[in-house]
Amino acid sequence: MLAWKDPVTYIHGLTAQQRRVLKQLEVETVGDLLSILPRRYDDYSNLVKIAYMPIGEPVTLKVKIKQLKKLPTFRRRFVMIRGLLEDDSGAVAATWFNQPWMLEQLKPGDEVYVSGVAKRHPRFGLGFASPLWEPANAETLAAGNIAPVYPLVGQVTQKTLRKIMKAAVDDLSDIEDSMPVEILANQHLPILIDALRLVHRPAIAEDAEKGRSRFVFDEVFFYQLALRLARNEADLGGAPQIKFDEAFAKKFVAQLPFELTPDQKRAAWSAFKDLEQSRPMRRLVQGDVGSGKTVVAAFCAAMVYRGGLSTAFMAPTDILAKQHALTLQRFFKPHHIPVLLVTSSTRYLDEGGEITKLSIQETKNRLAAGRIVAVGTHALLERDQCPSDLALAIVDEQHRFGVAQREALTVLERPDKMVPHLLSMTATPIPRSLAMTLFGDLDVSTIKTKPAGRQPVTTRIMVGETGRNLAYQAVKEAVRRGEQAFIVCPLIDPSDKLGSKSVEEEIVRLRNGPLKGLKLLALHGKLSAVDKDQAMNDFKEKKADVLIATTVVEVGVDIPNATIMLIESAERFGLAQLHQLRGRIGRSDKPCVCHLIATDEDADITRLKVLERTTDGFEVAEEDLKIRGSGNLLGYEQSGRSLFRYARFTDVGIMSQARDQALEILKNDPLLKNNQTLRSRAEEVRQTAHGE
Ligand code: ADP
Ligand code: MG
Repeated sequence: MLAWKDPVTYIHGLTAQQRRVLKQLEVETVGDLLSILPRRYDDYSNLVKIAYMPIGEPVTLKVKIKQLKKLPTFRRRFVMIRGLLEDDSGAVAATWFNQPWMLEQLKPGDEVYVSGVAKRHPRFGLGFASPLWEPANAETLAAGNIAPVYPLVGQVTQKTLRKIMKAAVDDLSDIEDSMPVEILANQHLPILIDALRLVHRPAIAEDAEKGRSRFVFDEVFFYQLALRLARNEADLGGAPQIKFDEAFAKKFVAQLPFELTPDQKRAAWSAFKDLEQSRPMRRLVQGDVGSGKTVVAAFCAAMVYRGGLSTAFMAPTDILAKQHALTLQRFFKPHHIPVLLVTSSTRYLDEGGEITKLSIQETKNRLAAGRIVAVGTHALLERDQCPSDLALAIVDEQHRFGVAQREALTVLERPDKMVPHLLSMTATPIPRSLAMTLFGDLDVSTIKTKPAGRQPVTTRIMVGETGRNLAYQAVKEAVRRGEQAFIVCPLIDPSDKLGSKSVEEEIVRLRNGPLKGLKLLALHGKLSAVDKDQAMNDFKEKKADVLIATTVVEVGVDIPNATIMLIESAERFGLAQLHQLRGRIGRSDKPCVCHLIATDEDADITRLKVLERTTDGFEVAEEDLKIRGSGNLLGYEQSGRSLFRYARFTDVGIMSQARDQALEILKNDPLLKNNQTLRSRAEEVRQTAHGE
């Protein structure tokens, strides 16, 4: 009998080759092996007669080999074997490629099961191409079954993996299940050993899904436990309490250059309530691009300043940090709230409109002195860059930060063990159900209404060369009106990660051709921080008409005079990303147009139509979700790794159940002191998340 933690080599009857395969897969224990779930299933449970078999559907036949022979081919080392199969109802052909050993293993007259999909070939007629075959006198893996299809690695064949998995599942002893039985009963989930049997050896199609749901549930449940546990532990230190100063709030609102929208007010007021608590705030403000999140954050920072403490305002890039500093300076000027900008290229202090450049040492000294609003990138989190009396950490464009940095924030504590409040902002609208799971430890404020007087961005899909020329015409007309334009290009080739080649080539092409005579400016990832700033500033100051850029312009950059955007090869971008990009325009009261150029005439542009239809980021996100369907949850955390191994977009229902269940447990036992088994699994999850 096998146990979960037994080495895989204990599995009965492994051949030397199979051992090698497992080593290749880096599978050490039986548990590791069985945790590899099938990607999908081929349903060969449909056992039929040749005369009645449906075309184009997976079937299994029990047949006698009538003929089997090698066909001559023109390519060397290419073997084609043709067989004629028959049962008492009729006969059908099958062809196999590059399996020369078949001629030794099978002889005319042998009885076999053949599983596959019969298709009608224009030249060869009806037949099977490389169907699976198994001797009819032994137990079968595929024939008559719902056969799992595993993610394959290297040299491993489906057949080998199926064999090994079956051996392991069949020999599994009563394994330990860390999920409390009440929860399983509540959720109608199978115990672990049953779940394993269901996913690896389903008898009917529903079994597989039932088994898989247990893995999704566990994954999300423990992720939530880990996240919340970390938070509950961190919260023990308590946060500095910031008193709400109503008179000041009124004054601040009155001095703003615009009137706050109701959603902005609501978000700010929720945050003020959080700031008053000794429990550290963890609030996510989500709102479409241009919805005005910055002022909400600025308002909070101002309130913290009133309370005598510091704020660290962090952006993903130097450009954005500089822009935020300028915005804050504008909002804060009437109140004499000091703003300190800390980037690798620029450091200055603005005290009520008086600006002083600072050396690195002076910057450190000022941070140590406290009661400051410091603006920078996440480098601000480093010990000697962090204000000594940090009470509030603001993270802009939160999805751009990796998981690691987010975790760092949760555990960021001051020398006195106090924990700063956290306010994060994202312009990636995430459907609520999903947001709750991904950011299960955060409270969410949503800014839906846009500031008044905004013109929605019109989006147009334009195909091919004629479409592109039309878009260039629009660019030229905008420039004639004194407005500006963005042109976004995709990366040309994988080696050009920073996009310098794409942008440089495009700018030369445009300068000598379609946009001759206009002032063009380049922005890509290869420029130094100083040069990027310079380019952005020049564009802001209208020293150029058109900014040719990679997706560097994706986040946050605010240029109200830019009214036209042209996105090259739009079909290569994700919907959410395109939505982000077009948010760079439409920030003033002038009409704005975003041209999505589908470069490839055959490209599938139906997907892009969503963007023509709606400007609501949440609707775009929902559509994106539908399109990704069963795809992985990769991409919301743009750190390059998938958050979950099993959960897919379509699992939102079970994910929220797992989350609720985790919360339920923690409500009664916030540090899991009475649930040691759960606690150690949660700790494990936390460590793996950190380790990657
Ligand atoms: P985002 O949510 O994308 O970060 P910003 O905070 O950069 O958006 O705001 C976009 C623009 O809208 C800025 O120029 C800002 O000054 C302006 N803005 C924000 N709130 C309002 C409002 N209530 N009324 C008018 N303009 C506003
Ligand atoms: Mg922003």
